[in-house]
Amino acid sequence: MPDDPEIIRAAIRKAHELGADVAGTVPAKRLVDCPSAIAEKRPGSQDRGTYIVLGLSHDPEHPELDLWEAGRGTPGDRILARIGKDLVRWLQEDYGVRARLIPYRLEDGGIYLKDAASLAGIGRMGRNNLVLVPGYGPRVRFRAVWADMDCPEEPSPEGEAPCAGCEEYCIRACPMDAFPTGKFSRERCLARMDADKATGRERIDHCRACELACPAGG
Ligand code: SF4
Ligand code: SF4
Repeated sequence: MPDDPEIIRAAIRKAHELGADVAGTVPAKRLVDCPSAIAEKRPGSQDRGTYIVLGLSHDPEHPELDLWEAGRGTPGDRILARIGKDLVRWLQEDYGVRARLIPYRLEDGGIYLKDAASLAGIGRMGRNNLVLVPGYGPRVRFRAVWADMDCPEEPSPEGEAPCAGCEEYCIRACPMDAFPTGKFSRERCLARMDADKATGRERIDHCRACELACPAGG
């Protein structure tokens, strides 16, 4: 029987086969006091097992992936959920590993996905509060699968800060001035999302200005 690190490496390969553009793993315990958990004063996770983080590119040429509907989320997230469910089934059937798809929303039992993606080494947090992924920039959405395995702890990637030398196109593009001190204001961004929802449109194309203005990964 392969050991946990071998199964984890196989799971990353399987995630790509199933359609994920990027994937990585992080021990669940590293999310307990991740930066968002500290900022929100809310534990970021249980402390047991491993999260397998799945990412799907959301190319601006396919804006339909990101159209949000009440009660259904977005088509891109449904693709990620399907990949996650297939990965859960494969882990259980081929290796007898307990696993489950993590809900998207925190209030449903979700995790801080951007922290998870950063800690998994998939990318690094940009000034626009999005994970900048090599080859894709911030145009990636995430989901996670929890698996009852021990994940080897890898050091977070080091190197030049991803925004070094950039003229902050993201901050300049924001219609809500959501970076008033250079730091992201969740309240201001949420106000824009709430206003979009209040239009009553069936399918909503939420603001992506800070994402689409970013040259990273282009
Ligand atoms: S999504 Fe839009 S409103 Fe929110 S921070 Fe980015 S640019 Fe500003
Ligand atoms: S636009 Fe520039 S400053 Fe903003 S996230 Fe992208 S690289 Fe960083």
